Amino acid sequence: MSGKNAPIERQDPPDLPVPGALMVDGQGRIGEFRGMWCGRWSLRPVAGGTEWTVAPADAQPASPEQRLGAEVTRANARSRGVPAIRGEYAFFDFTISPDMDPDAPPMLYRFRCLGEDDDGTPCGAESEESEDFEEARGWTFKHKKDQPEHTSYEEVLRRPWIMRPGRPA
Ligand SMILES: [Zn+2]
Repeated sequence: MSGKNAPIERQDPPDLPVPGALMVDGQGRIGEFRGMWCGRWSLRPVAGGTEWTVAPADAQPASPEQRLGAEVTRANARSRGVPAIRGEYAFFDFTISPDMDPDAPPMLYRFRCLGEDDDGTPCGAESEESEDFEEARGWTFKHKKDQPEHTSYEEVLRRPWIMRPGRPA
């Protein structure tokens, strides 16, 4: 991997989230960061709807658990009109669901470039796998600096699941 001695240029204050980052306000509401507005941060509900603003000091990055909940909400909002996605599937007397135990393996994020070279060869470049979603996502911008035409990416998520006896609640 390159970039070991290339300093990363930053124009924004380091604590300003990137647009789309999932943040939690003082009341535990989760939203996508939209931008700065009159010294406050603007957040939008993940399922869409009216934005609200929050004092930067009251906002925190979403935890992996909160992010998972937001992803399910977002997926359900996207598939409106289709039967709701169920988070759990039962098979006989076992249920499998995302493993959120503190001891569970971490969720790992990676981004993969879906761009193609001029001759149609898929690029296939990937970020490092990271427990930090924003770190993995940040890689796409670095990659686009080297490959300005590459604007399509996919998120590859590794999430631990666990089977437990019993039926879904
Ligand atoms: Zn690429």
